Amino acid sequence: MDLQAIIDDIASAFAERRGEGKVADYIPELAKVDPKQFAIAITTVDGAVYTAGDAATPFSIQSISKVFMLTLALGKAGETIWQRVGREPSGSAFNSIVQLEHELGIPRNPFINAGAIVICDMVLAGYKPKEAIGELLRFVRYLADDETISIDRAVAKSETQTGFRNYALANFMRSFGNLHHDVDHVLGVYFHQCALSMTCQQLSRAGLFLAAQGADPISGYSVVSPKRARRINALMLTCGHYDGSGDFAFHVGLPGKSGVGGGILAIAPGKASIAVWSPGLNKVGNSLLGSLALEMLAARTGWSVFGA
Ligand code: GLU
Repeated sequence: MDLQAIIDDIASAFAERRGEGKVADYIPELAKVDPKQFAIAITTVDGAVYTAGDAATPFSIQSISKVFMLTLALGKAGETIWQRVGREPSGSAFNSIVQLEHELGIPRNPFINAGAIVICDMVLAGYKPKEAIGELLRFVRYLADDETISIDRAVAKSETQTGFRNYALANFMRSFGNLHHDVDHVLGVYFHQCALSMTCQQLSRAGLFLAAQGADPISGYSVVSPKRARRINALMLTCGHYDGSGDFAFHVGLPGKSGVGGGILAIAPGKASIAVWSPGLNKVGNSLLGSLALEMLAARTGWSVFGA
């Protein structure tokens, strides 16, 4: 299979449509991004890398970072994390507060904002906020094998200044006793985590352990156990696209995690880790062209967790 030819075809199929969708503007710094950018990168389990479009341009990975933070929290607290966060799709927007009251401050899953904020609280245990952020940055650099990855401080600041809903979610959970640290500290970690800036090439490399049963196939090091990798993939499949998760599974058929920066990380288990980026979002907040590009890639490669 000629993966380079496939992604070149995909990039040219969308060349005319670059800029479609709506760039997230509730975080002012994200609204400044050029909407016409488009990128795709694939790292296969045998270490080959294929890129097309703006794959070397860093962008704000936003909620895709929740996959890496969840992996850290599982490493730190193991399965006990499930006492404080669920594993069910929410069927609501990523920043919804409605369910939280009915469910007594226990968020539905680690990939909606409330769940990710609880995960930050767990990683913060025994650390100062700066140390927790440092730990995440080290982890992501290690996974991507790239020391140049950084946090975009302007994005973190922009989120801090406008994150009213996230403050509401965090305070609400704190009132139920499901946050153990200062709301400001937890959100400081959360906003910096979301402001991680990565290229599609770096992101596809960082996700590779999830395509390879939890071990980095290039370095040979184990990141998580095969069982844990399977479970993280299961959560990405069921909860990785907010209330568009069912549709993404239907059209693409791969575990994936999107972010409001317009990126998506998708995992083809046993085959490859794929990152796409196009800033314009669809109605539920997932990259419009990114989702379509992955659908085309899945159709052309036959990659799907539901059978070829
Ligand atoms: N930092 C964003 C927020 O909290 C993340 C949203 C996302 O990518 O889903 O609103």
